[in-house]
Amino acid sequence: MYSIPESYELVKSQIAQSAAKCGRGAGEIELVAVSKTWPVEIISELVSCGHTVFGENKVQELEVKAPALPAGLRWHFIGHLQKNKVRKVLPLADTIHSVDSLELARRIDHIAADLGLFPKVYLQANTAGESAKSGFSPQQIAADIDDLLDLERLEILGLMGIPPVRENPDDTRGDFRALRELRDKLQTQTGVPLPGLSMGMSHDFELAIAEGSTAVRVGSSIFGKRRVPMG
Ligand SMILES: *Cc1c(COP(=O)(O)O)cnc(C)c1O
Repeated sequence: MYSIPESYELVKSQIAQSAAKCGRGAGEIELVAVSKTWPVEIISELVSCGHTVFGENKVQELEVKAPALPAGLRWHFIGHLQKNKVRKVLPLADTIHSVDSLELARRIDHIAADLGLFPKVYLQANTAGESAKSGFSPQQIAADIDDLLDLERLEILGLMGIPPVRENPDDTRGDFRALRELRDKLQTQTGVPLPGLSMGMSHDFELAIAEGSTAVRVGSSIFGKRRVPMG
């Protein structure tokens, strides 16, 4: 039978091993358990293991689950965020991984001021230039970074990326490296530290950690294979 506690322990030990291999501490890497599509009863099993950081990609799911689970949990929003949903998300999620335009960042800043909040955000970058995927292009983020850093309510942690599916999975390492190098370039350009790199999912978090990931977003390796979402 599938065991969430066992899968969770395995993922944690894989994170620790990957970190140790490159001389990093496991504590430098945040594990965001991606609970999208899973009901609160299943998520509770991971809460019972002591895990507190969860990622959701749909506002409607977040609105149902966050109030139904213990108040001490932290919710990260990892999906594409529409501007008209920001007011719903900010009171529930303290971190947003998917800020993909200056317009959205301004909206978050404005509503955060309204609500008295200081959200943490990652800027989603699309280093491979995939047109179907959201995210700043490297050119756009370089052009917008000063304006982004001026937004008083946002704590910009760093960059987030979702690499393209590669024929050879090891090639994904180059995508993670490209995100890190873009981050380094923005730090040099602005003189502002951007320590966070949200990169790595179930099938590639070990490569991401080798390239400097500070937050891995892991769903199926913890909860099991997601059922096809209904409707
Ligand atoms: C679903 C999702 C994940 C987790 O994917 P797994 O392959 O199940 O680990 C990570 N990041 C984002 C943005 C996602 O939508």
